[in-house]
Amino acid sequence: MGELVRSTIRVEGVVQGVGFRPFVYSLATSLGLTGFVGNDVDGVFAEVEGEADSVSKFLVLLEQQAPPLARIDRVKAVAAAPVGSAEFTIAGSVPGGARHALVSADSATCADCLRELADPADRRYRYPFINCTNCGPRFTIIRDVPYDRPQTTMSGFAMCDQCAAEYHDPANRRFHAQPICCPACGPHLALTDARRVRRPGSSADPIGAAAGLIGSGQILALKGLGGYHLAVDAGNEAAAGALRARKHREDKPFAVMVPDLASARELCELDEAAEQSLTSGRRPIVLAPARPGAADRIAPSVAPGNRQLGLMLPYTPLHHLLLERLARPMVVTSGNTSDEPIAYRDADALVRLAGIADAFLVHDRAIHIRTDDSVVRAFGGREAVLRRSRGYAPEPLRVRPGFTRPVLACGAELKNTFCLGKEDRAFISHHIGDLENAETLQSFTAGIEHFRRLFGIEPQVVAHDLHPDYLSTKYAAELTGVDLVGVQHHHAHIAGCMADNDADEPVIGVAFDGTGYGADGTIWGGEFLIADLHGFERAGFLEPLPMPGGAAAIRQPWRMAAIYLEAAYPDGLPAGLAVRDRNGQAWPAITAMAARSINSPLTSSAGRLFDAAAALLGVRDLIHYEGQAAIELEQLADPGTGTRDAYSARIAVDTHVLIRGADLIRAAADDLAAGVDRPVIAARFHHGVAAAIAAVCSTLRDRSGLRVVALSGGVFQNLLLTTMAVRRLEDMGFRVLTHSRVPCNDGGISLGQAVVAGTRDRLGLV
Ligand SMILES: [Zn+2]
Ligand SMILES: [Zn+2]
Repeated sequence: MGELVRSTIRVEGVVQGVGFRPFVYSLATSLGLTGFVGNDVDGVFAEVEGEADSVSKFLVLLEQQAPPLARIDRVKAVAAAPVGSAEFTIAGSVPGGARHALVSADSATCADCLRELADPADRRYRYPFINCTNCGPRFTIIRDVPYDRPQTTMSGFAMCDQCAAEYHDPANRRFHAQPICCPACGPHLALTDARRVRRPGSSADPIGAAAGLIGSGQILALKGLGGYHLAVDAGNEAAAGALRARKHREDKPFAVMVPDLASARELCELDEAAEQSLTSGRRPIVLAPARPGAADRIAPSVAPGNRQLGLMLPYTPLHHLLLERLARPMVVTSGNTSDEPIAYRDADALVRLAGIADAFLVHDRAIHIRTDDSVVRAFGGREAVLRRSRGYAPEPLRVRPGFTRPVLACGAELKNTFCLGKEDRAFISHHIGDLENAETLQSFTAGIEHFRRLFGIEPQVVAHDLHPDYLSTKYAAELTGVDLVGVQHHHAHIAGCMADNDADEPVIGVAFDGTGYGADGTIWGGEFLIADLHGFERAGFLEPLPMPGGAAAIRQPWRMAAIYLEAAYPDGLPAGLAVRDRNGQAWPAITAMAARSINSPLTSSAGRLFDAAAALLGVRDLIHYEGQAAIELEQLADPGTGTRDAYSARIAVDTHVLIRGADLIRAAADDLAAGVDRPVIAARFHHGVAAAIAAVCSTLRDRSGLRVVALSGGVFQNLLLTTMAVRRLEDMGFRVLTHSRVPCNDGGISLGQAVVAGTRDRLGLV
């Protein structure tokens, strides 16, 4: 027998509620080690004793073979004196003290549970709430920490004897699975109307009845993991159209849930990264190019005017059972009317969705935290998150150099998230939504309180946007006993992109978006910043033009076309401009309003430049959702048009580097008059914007010596533009940072604010 050694081990990260202790138990016993393992507020602690080789092997396998939902941040192992322990045991939880243990995100039904779900001999056969330590609801059902059943919305369900035996058996794969349940003791489904009256004849098989209802063209409200969904047959145009009409959602694409990867491949072109996202336990909606044949299976109203489809695989047992019965793609969209947050409480959902859904498939496990489906796409071989919510939140990002004092970042106004930072972790919230009504504001404030409790963070530094009217800014201003740090919107975008890429050297930041409050009080949005994590210099921007009517110009892209065309043709507009003819009556009033500077704030917004091009090309004069005109312009663009056909914009180099955006609009208008195809014009415009970005970055490199470019802001949701810009910049020798783990849109602002505030605090500048 070899030398006997003992090791004291601490594991930090997402290691609770994910089957970590039974894993440690079986690993230790398989290696013939003695000792114990337990949970406390900091994570998992263990002591192992045995032969030196076995203990070393244990430490290696501890990280290599950790359970699928575990995310290990740190393992600390310290040698101790052997005590001659005789067996390996699992110790109880130790409450109290600081809270470092991390709450896991919700995770899709695992393969083991799916096997049991389909096994007629299993006691959970076809049970729609089956879960285990490796899968199921987590963040959405947790009320408080430590993560134990009484602190979840499963507290009202007393375990039956069989479930209790599994729960307490360290060798069982449901050992300490807090949401453990079965048909005898767990939640149940019902198919009802809006008054909670059961659908006649549905009691024995509510899922079959619900599938029948969708199959016959009706609209089903479906209680999911993070909220209510509305579901219809994705191949039924009448049903999809009715859903749009009742939801008051005019054009924004719906997501489609398909039963498996094979069906997803039939509908969309998927690369390896897209397939990985689609099949991951996080189960986001994955945006991917639709195959030509998809139109035969998916109704036109599902994603009108879009070459992409948003696909998702089932992530709860209920989804699996429902899709199996339906046996075709199903539209799954948020349970709300346009602009409202997704409904998640039963009473509220029944009222709000009564006029939309024909029936409700509901259950009695409460949702504690509303979380929307996350949205991602593949870019450059990796996942790029566009909405980070279910399956991702509340998992923290590690950031450097970290926070000396705890930080709260309140985020932006649209697509709001907030972020709590402590030590080297940034806890970005689930997607809160647009902070423009009482209900989202309530989720924002309640969400912050919830995160503070869950992670034991008492913020001493609070970061906010400079916009005085953002509700998130007002919230920050009302806090007492904290140090406030205002962070400029586009600086937050760039800092967020740096943190996303774990970069801390200074960069040339290109922040292109719709609107952000500038350091000078004007509206920025086409910015080139020389930036690091604590400050920035505004080095260049798109030449500012008036936005006639302010917010009205955002809703009516033709107004920006008018402004850009007037700037492009100072000696008078050419004849035959369709956009002017379409808006003939209002046109003179709008241009006069701008000329007299009446309610016409100046903006350097890149979003408005895209709006102008879209309206000029007849894509869209009015929008129904943020960014719609630009999104449709991207869809219109001919991907085959080459880089050499780029329009060119003059670049003025002075104190600032200025792009004359009106040149791009003039080139497009000239092409239009010459009869060039609109898809070619749209492509040449995109190339022109990418070329202007590259030209300004080149000038700024000469000036600053910086060779890293960070691209951020909602405009870079445009895949075509991002691809073109990255290619040009890389060809010029730049290293280019793009977003991956947090959105490039305003959902990524809170992370940027947090790292800027944290860095300033570290430097004593707060
Ligand atoms: Zn499972
Ligand atoms: Zn049970």
